Amino acid sequence: MTTIPRRALLWIGAAILLLGNSATARAELNVITSTADLAAITRAIGGRAVKADSLTSGASAPHFAVPKPSMIRRARDADLLIVVGAELEIGWLPVVLSSAANPRINVGQPGYLDLSSSVSILQEAGPVSRAQGDVHKSGNPHYMLDPQNGLVAARAIAARLAELDPANAAAYQAGLAAFEGEFRRKWPEWQRGFTPLRGKSVVSYHRSLPYLARAFGFVIVGELEPLPGISPTVSHLEALGETIRRNNVRLLLMEGFYERRSAQFLAERTGIKVAVIPHAVEFEAGMKSYFDTFDGILKSIRVSGAY
Ligand SMILES: [Zn+2]
Repeated sequence: MTTIPRRALLWIGAAILLLGNSATARAELNVITSTADLAAITRAIGGRAVKADSLTSGASAPHFAVPKPSMIRRARDADLLIVVGAELEIGWLPVVLSSAANPRINVGQPGYLDLSSSVSILQEAGPVSRAQGDVHKSGNPHYMLDPQNGLVAARAIAARLAELDPANAAAYQAGLAAFEGEFRRKWPEWQRGFTPLRGKSVVSYHRSLPYLARAFGFVIVGELEPLPGISPTVSHLEALGETIRRNNVRLLLMEGFYERRSAQFLAERTGIKVAVIPHAVEFEAGMKSYFDTFDGILKSIRVSGAY
C-alpha cells in the first residue's frame, strides 16, 4: 500500500475545507423539475445560484416515468419542485412525493410550482375517460411545445426563484432577461423555418402537437393513436390512411420513443414522410437549451423531405 505523506494529507484536508466553505457560501437553491425542459430553463435563469435537475430524462416518454429511489432521494433535499402539471406527472410523481416526505415541496407550498396554472391549457374535444387509458383528462399537457409557453414558464420560474431566494433576485431577473432576448432572436427564425408547413395538414403519433401547430400555423388532422395513450390498431391506421390520402397529407411527426411499425405501415400505403422529432431538450446529445428542441424539430422536418 502506498503511504501518503503527512504534509500532503494536510493540504488535502485544507482543500476539502475550502471547497466546503465555498459551497456553503454559495447557498444554491436546490431545484428539481419533472421534465428536462423545465430543468434547462431553470438553469438558464438561475445560473450559479441554483442546482436544477430533472427527475426524468429528455429522451423518455413524459407520461410514463417510473418512480425510482434516485428520484425520492433528490426530492427529499429539494427546496423547489417545478412541474408541467395538467396531470402529465400523475402516474409517478405522487408516489415520489409521498415517499420523499419533504414538506417544503408539497402541493400548495412555496416550494411547489405547477406551471400549468400560468398557461392556457387546451381542452380535449369530446368525452374523455381514464377507463379508456386516456392520459389527457385535465386537458392537453404538452404546452411546452409552444415556445411562447416556454417564455411564460420562464417568467413564472424566475418569479418563484426570487421569492424563495430574494438575495439573488437581481441575478434571476438578469437570467430571465437573457432568456427573453434569446427567445426574441429565435422566434422569427422558427417562424421562417415553419413557413413551408403553414396551413398544411399533418398527422402525429400522439396528441402532443396542438400547441406546436397553433404556434406555427399548421393543422393536425389525425393521430396514430386512436385516443391519447392508446396504441394504434390496424383498423384505426387504415382509416387514418384514408384521411391522409383525402387531405393530401405529406408529413407525419412523431416522437422518437414510439414504435416505428405503425408509421412504416402508413408510409408504405400512403407515401407519407416521417419526421422523428425531439419533444424535449436533451432528447439527443448536444441539445442543452430548451430552444434547441425547436431547432431540432425543424431539422427533422427538413430531413424528412416532406417539404
Ligand atoms: Zn400526452
